[in-house]
Amino acid sequence: MKTWLNESNHTVVFTGAGMSTESGLPDFRSANQGLWNQKDPSKIASTDALNNNVEVFIEFYRTRVLSVKDYKPHEGHHILADWEKQGLVHSIITQNVDGFHQEAGSQNVAELHGTLTKLHCQSCGREYNSEEYVNQEYYCVCGGILRPSITLFGETLPQDAFQFALSEAEKADLFIVLGSSLSVSPANQFPLIAKDNGARLVIVNRDPTELDAYADKIIHGREIGEVLKEWNS
Ligand code: ZN
Repeated sequence: MKTWLNESNHTVVFTGAGMSTESGLPDFRSANQGLWNQKDPSKIASTDALNNNVEVFIEFYRTRVLSVKDYKPHEGHHILADWEKQGLVHSIITQNVDGFHQEAGSQNVAELHGTLTKLHCQSCGREYNSEEYVNQEYYCVCGGILRPSITLFGETLPQDAFQFALSEAEKADLFIVLGSSLSVSPANQFPLIAKDNGARLVIVNRDPTELDAYADKIIHGREIGEVLKEWNS
């Protein structure tokens, strides 16, 4: 694997929920505790809830913002950041919203679903730090409601991140998927675009994925951090 990394002129890493859960962060989709028990997160994490059920929306996201602050990037995040500094990795495309890649030092990161580390005003767009939620400040100076800068159900993906991810996938010689089941569109398009353009495709995921048939190397059932540590040695 180190040979492939060294041979590649443009390596792109794609990370999904499995990368974050190794930091201990609960998977959003399996969150079923306290107030959210019996409730479908996709109903709370939506523009519909923001517009019609704002107290539940805010309480849900305040809990998520606080939860992310309890965890840190793991060794795998740090190895990817080192590889970027060494020129072995050119960019990261992530489905995660925790900001751990940047916290670990990665700079070229496309956040397909936005970030929980920032808020912005739903009315005027002014940006705020997520500390506002921690301090129970929910309103902009203009009076508008502050919402996390993530993609809610009912919204389109941030176009700049999407376009960046697309052009990176096209340029890749080596495309490495870490911790994504690749079952959600458009996430599952990027590995195929890379493959179509001649990249080697490597998939590391706990379970089999829908794109395993296209991969040049597949690793199941192992911790991502351990796999990266092994490749790094
Ligand atoms: Zn505002």
